[in-house]
Amino acid sequence: YKINIIRKKSNLLLQEKNNELIIAKEKAEKASNARADFLSTVSHELRTPLNAINGITHLLLEENPKKSQLHYLSSLQYSGNYLTAFINDILEINKIDSNKIEIERINFDLKKLLIDIKNSLNEVATKNKNEFILEIDNAIPTHLIGDPIKLSQVFMNLINNALKFTKNGKVSIIAKLKSLQNQKAIIAFEIIDTGIGIPEEKLESVFDSFSQGSTEINRKYGGTGLGLTIVKKILNLLESEIHLKSNVGEGSTFSFELALAFNEQQPDEQVPVQE
Ligand code: ADP
Repeated sequence: YKINIIRKKSNLLLQEKNNELIIAKEKAEKASNARADFLSTVSHELRTPLNAINGITHLLLEENPKKSQLHYLSSLQYSGNYLTAFINDILEINKIDSNKIEIERINFDLKKLLIDIKNSLNEVATKNKNEFILEIDNAIPTHLIGDPIKLSQVFMNLINNALKFTKNGKVSIIAKLKSLQNQKAIIAFEIIDTGIGIPEEKLESVFDSFSQGSTEINRKYGGTGLGLTIVKKILNLLESEIHLKSNVGEGSTFSFELALAFNEQQPDEQVPVQE
């Protein structure tokens, strides 16, 4: 009889603890949702007047300003662009963290995507006098299925960094087919630069939000310190993982693999994609 009472009591206690845990979890979830909503509202509210500031700065710059005004306007343009990039990055991270991002499955041509990205960054490469190379394995199927916008974000961030932190050097984008299995192409990507490199103790933390090499680097090269966080989070959503090898003064290599379904038919035929 006594054992039964003890059992009942301990069961009650367990249930109480369980309920407390459930309530705590619900509270934490509510707080996290409220934080995400708050961040999203503030960011959107900031973006509207910022668009006006950027637009007017652009117009004033086009009106042949005096030399003294040009200096102030250029600085305004730089700050406006920085804030816009920062707000967009915060919104993106917030969307991923609150599971509001959907991964698309549409037909796309990887070769064309990489060529377009490279062309859009040619100017940055020329500015830093970098040799800029794209090598795509011919065996990669032309019509892949995936989310080209998310992939562009990953490539843009990694390649832009590689070009930014390299001067008079070389930046290579390499895509190699590793295997074709079960209608999936396993593709290995590498973004290699011969730039300033990253110290060993920073190799992991560079993927954390607001982590930049140093204040000096931040001031010299600009940037929000959120690019690699976004890269890591997007690749995570795509069930991939980013790897980094780097030596100070020699350069860095960022690499990852993607398993992408492929299609034998033309993308224009609008083939329905099945899960
Ligand atoms: P940022 O906007 O500052 O570039 P990221 O998240 O993209 O932010 O990168 C974080 C930090 O990692 C950078 O500030 C820089 O110190 C370092 N980093 C990233 N890519 C490279 C690279 N290719 N070469 C050297 N350092 C890099």
